[in-house]
This record gives sequence, structure tokens and C-alpha cells, in this order.
Amino acid sequence: MSSTVKGKSGSPGPLKAAGKLTSITADYDSLLFGAKDKGRLIAYVTSMVPVEILQAFDIVLAMPENYAALCASRKMAGEFCNAAEQMGYSGVLCSYMLTTSGSESSQKGPYEGNSLPPPDLLVCSDYACNTHVKWWQNLSEYYGCPIFVIDSAYSAEGPLREHYRDYLVSEFRGLIAFLQEHTGKSLDMQRLKETVALSDRASALWEEIGEYRKVIPTPIGPIDIFTTMLTLVLLRGTREAVDFYEEVVDEIKERVKDKIAYLPNEKFRLIWDRFPVWYRLGLLKLFEDNGAVVVTDLYADAFGGRLDPDNPLPSLAERYLNLFARSAAGGRADMYIQRAKDWHVDGAVFHSNRACRYASTEQLMMAHIMEKELGIPTMFFEGNMNDPRMFSEAQAVTRIQAFIEILENQRESSGKG
Ligand code: SF4
Repeated sequence: MSSTVKGKSGSPGPLKAAGKLTSITADYDSLLFGAKDKGRLIAYVTSMVPVEILQAFDIVLAMPENYAALCASRKMAGEFCNAAEQMGYSGVLCSYMLTTSGSESSQKGPYEGNSLPPPDLLVCSDYACNTHVKWWQNLSEYYGCPIFVIDSAYSAEGPLREHYRDYLVSEFRGLIAFLQEHTGKSLDMQRLKETVALSDRASALWEEIGEYRKVIPTPIGPIDIFTTMLTLVLLRGTREAVDFYEEVVDEIKERVKDKIAYLPNEKFRLIWDRFPVWYRLGLLKLFEDNGAVVVTDLYADAFGGRLDPDNPLPSLAERYLNLFARSAAGGRADMYIQRAKDWHVDGAVFHSNRACRYASTEQLMMAHIMEKELGIPTMFFEGNMNDPRMFSEAQAVTRIQAFIEILENQRESSGKG
């Protein structure tokens, strides 16, 4: 999808549908904190675990990474990272892990002062990030609960090999056996297929939202993306997620039909790599004040991925083996180059995230490849997705101002200014 509409004056502001997130999270919180009373087990899962399988067992899911981002958005993460350092953790480790560990140890959190309810089970994978395995091992020791680690073959580049997929499917079967043992239930294959179908539908809608961002000027801004992705993260495989994204898509369609631009004075279209700054999402507004808007990113898209309900386990395996984050720098740069073309991008912003070497290690190389191939400028700012003690607003603002000047100069010298 790529079309150009003439924007009306005045920004429409955040999506109205995003207002639903308040009731969605309230319902989720009740489910989480009411789980024990209802005799339901709580599992802590890492971000790329096939949650559809756990949902087929009626397990209530909690995601510490998402919890950590919530703490950051409530301005509590700095205190918790500090508490984790007092426990002996180094401050340069993953700040999602530090935030959650500090919150647990200080028995404080954003849920009316409380942290997450304790888990009954722990499930993590090793295909999204190596930190997950160590983090979950620590949780297992801390809470004394059973853990299942989903192992995968490491494939940096190249086409997906069948035996990699078969191996991951065998790991998912191991997960099913683990869940059967701890819930006392057998897997209901029909229920799994239904869950996978709902997950696929939510992913299809999420992809559609991403496609609408190709429209010039874009009808939707990045803060809406980074907030509405919460439903995909927490509620993949549920009817609630599908209903929510149907509403989001309807609203965006209306904006496109009525020629409503997210940023009526849109001048520059940007790629964002990778983590948002959760305690300072407003940083994105500093670009927008200068007519520059983020129109695509790989981070939020990673939570989608199409599935085949008639073939649930192999399609789940393919989704995770095809995660963009598993590609080396060259592969990721190629993905961004394609996106830059498809989304009509003028520049790229790299959040050099000190809390996640996994995300930031190869960014310089990617930026060089993109500059060389596309001739577009790139900018870096140093930050930390969760720990505000490691972020300098003044430095970021200086970088953004310089970047906007470069974009302006480039526009002028191309004769389009
Ligand atoms: S990918 Fe980065 S942010 Fe996520 S758990 Fe791993 S180290 Fe932390």
C-alpha cells in the first residue's frame, strides 16, 4: 500500500481506539491478580515464547519485560535498577532484568504499590536473546519454581532449514509435556488451533496497520504504535486483541479516507531502530515539532508474524526462527533498506541502547550500510530503554537538532526543499 493524501491542517492527536488500552489493561490486571483465587496458574514468559500454547492450557501469562517497561513509564524504573545494583547486579546489565529484580526485592511496583504476583511456572526461550535464559534461571532460584527453556538452532543468515524448524517443534512438544505435567491437563488441540487462529488474525491486523504507515503523509504516529503494541504483546491469541486491532484499523482507514494526516506538516519520514525510551516517549515529539515522523520500525513488528491454525506448531516455529533479531547486521540492514524504499524514508534514527547490547552491537555497521546504499542520513543517541539514570536529554536534543539540520540541507541540495 502506498498512496499520497493531502493532509488537513491540525493533528488528529492520539488514536481514539488507544483509549481502550485503559480498560484492556485493567481487565488484564484483574485476571493476573485474581488468578490464584480462581485456581489458575501464572507463568512468567519471555517476550518470544509461543504464548498460544500456554493459553491453550488456561495459564495466566505475565511478561516481566513488559512489566519493566510499565515501571519505566510510571517513572519507577530508576529506583528499581538502583535496588538491583544494591543486590549485586551490575548496572550495565539489561535494565528490564534490573527493573524487575529491584521491584521484586523491594516488594514495590506500579500495581497499587505492588509488584507482579509470584509465578507458578517459568518459560523462556533462547532464540530472542541470551539474557533471557540467565534471567529465568535466576527467577527459578528466587521463586523456587519449575522452569522450561525452549532451545533452538542458531541460524544467523540464509533460508530456514527444515531440520531447524523440526528441532524447534520438538522443543514445543517438550513444553507441552512440561505444561501437562504441571497443570494435570492434556493439550486440547482444538483449543490450540483456535488460539493460533486468533493470534494470526491479530498479527494480520497489525501488519495492516504497518501498511497504512506507508501512506504519505502517514495517518498514525509512533507513540500510538509503541502503546497499542501492548495488546499484541500481552494478549496474543485472544478475542480481545482481535477486537481491539479491528477498531484501530477502522479508525486508521477513516483517517486515510478523510485525508487526515498524523502530522499535517510532514516533511521527513524516518525509520526507528529499536527500543523506545519508555520513560520518555515524548522524545519522539521533538522530531515531530520539526516535521519529522517515524513511519516504520522492526521492533514493534516483531510481535506479529503470521501463523497457520491448521499447522500450529510448525508455523509457530517458523515465526520465531524468522525473527528479524536473529539476522546478523547485513541481513537487518537489508530489511531496513527495503523498508526505506517501501515506506519512502528520508533518514534513520538509532537508539544506542546501553541496556541491551543485543540490540545495539551492530547498529553502526547497519547505519554505514544504509548510508552507502540509500544515501540517507542516520543519527545515533545514547540512552537506556528503562533506566533514566543513563539518559541525557540535553545530549539527545542536540543530536536531534543536528540531524534535522542535515535532513533540511539534504532536502535543499536535492532541490526538493
Ligand atoms: S533483548 Fe535486550 S532488552 Fe530484551 S531481554 Fe535481552 S538484553 Fe534485555
